[in-house]
Amino acid sequence: MKIFAHVEPGAPAVEMEVEHPELAGAEVLVRVTNSGVCHSDVHCQDGYFDLGDAGHYELTAAGAQYPVVLGHEIVGEVVAAGPDATVQPGDTKFIVFPWIGCGECQACREDRENYCSGAKRNLSVQRRGGYAEEVHVPDERYLVPLGDIDPSFGATLACSGLTSYSAVQKITPLPADQPVAVIGAGGVGLMTVAVLKALGHENIVAVDMSEAALENAAGVGASATVQVGGENLVQDIVEAGGGKFAAAIDLVNNGDTSTAALFAMANGGTLVSVGLFGGQYRFPTALTAFNLLNIRGNFVGSLPELKELVQLAQDVDLPRPPIREVPLTADEVNTALDGLRNRNLNGRAVLVSS
Ligand SMILES: [Zn+2]
Ligand SMILES: [Zn+2]
Repeated sequence: MKIFAHVEPGAPAVEMEVEHPELAGAEVLVRVTNSGVCHSDVHCQDGYFDLGDAGHYELTAAGAQYPVVLGHEIVGEVVAAGPDATVQPGDTKFIVFPWIGCGECQACREDRENYCSGAKRNLSVQRRGGYAEEVHVPDERYLVPLGDIDPSFGATLACSGLTSYSAVQKITPLPADQPVAVIGAGGVGLMTVAVLKALGHENIVAVDMSEAALENAAGVGASATVQVGGENLVQDIVEAGGGKFAAAIDLVNNGDTSTAALFAMANGGTLVSVGLFGGQYRFPTALTAFNLLNIRGNFVGSLPELKELVQLAQDVDLPRPPIREVPLTADEVNTALDGLRNRNLNGRAVLVSS
């Protein structure tokens, strides 16, 4: 089977041929029909995450081995199943939950595999991901039926959608008129705005550097937008929300955005730090105490949360960001990753195989 792999940090994806896996237990082999290109793949292509003053977190330290196959927003059909699997090969489409843990630690036993502290099996990091003809999934339990959701949109639910949904769970319930900032209106930011809107939230302020991104955010439900670049970002955000913020979800999460969000926060407010752009919090620790602030991290989401999100997407017509479908080839993987890196990709790219 073909995989589109990066042979070393920084290298472009190249097409390679690998053997089909032998399937044991309830393992399944899924033919990839739709594979979303997510910004975290850009960091994975670089081979590290920026930890600000603490240096770099290398992908290999997380257990990745080159060549790596990125892509964790996967929709596809089962083409082969292990002896214990109940799912039959066929043309039913599934969303693949990619954030698979060790299966043994406390978090995994509680179905919070994104909190796993053991040997993770995340597709696209420790195991091969969805920039490939087929993906080997370690258990059929990680397949969530797509239903009548559009498959390219459904693919984006596995990471940007799930991350958004999980982040929103950390600030809700919240009165609908309380100001919430969504910082960064790329793929995850747009989904965050869309999920907040779908859950009935009314005061959503989107913040970004790009006018096009802010137009997208307004299109999916932001009630106000703030373009970064004015003299006083904190003041601009607070004015747009009509007061200090009950919560902020920071999809950029660098030193500037996290600091601005904390200064814009009302007493008791919650900052959810999501983005991986690197940097340091620069905020008086005493104000965290005086203002009773909460700072919470969010990394993707759990399998139960993905199921809830897929149900939500079936129940309501979630506003969706612009999606550009391109063929599933190594060239298109590279073009999409470059587009995200250079910030000239508007909305989402999804690789599609017919
Ligand atoms: Zn992702
Ligand atoms: Zn675990």
